[in-house]
Amino acid sequence: MYPKRCGACGGRVAPSTGALPFSVRGETVKVPGIEHGVCADCSEVYLALDAAEQLQTEAIRMSKAARGLLAPDEIREIRRSFAMSQVAFEELLGVGSKTVVRWEKGTVFQSTTADRLMRLLRAQPELAMVLASGELYARACASAERVRI
Ligand SMILES: [Zn+2]
Repeated sequence: MYPKRCGACGGRVAPSTGALPFSVRGETVKVPGIEHGVCADCSEVYLALDAAEQLQTEAIRMSKAARGLLAPDEIREIRRSFAMSQVAFEELLGVGSKTVVRWEKGTVFQSTTADRLMRLLRAQPELAMVLASGELYARACASAERVRI
């Protein structure tokens, strides 16, 4: 809940629904349909906690869509379609520790390459078996041996 009286000027805070700006990676995204309170006198905006979360989640989704990237919930859906933990999915994709959790939270945006790899896995799920088998890449120890020869 937001306050009934404005903390800045003491004016009345009235309920409203509309587009609010949110900054994602230095870019301002206007998210429509956010419930909020607005001061009748100074226009200060107040957000309830769930509305603030909704604003952030939707702003990240819109920003990623504008860049042609899968949304955090789409990444989660793809991972879950393989019944994989975040750690197992990181190993499958060959990305670092905690990378998938950050993608799924939206705090870090996946590269275009990782995005396309995940789209490929969604379109052709059997490719996960190929990836998991290690057939497509030389493991670190194997390539080290090759260097010695
Ligand atoms: Zn005010």
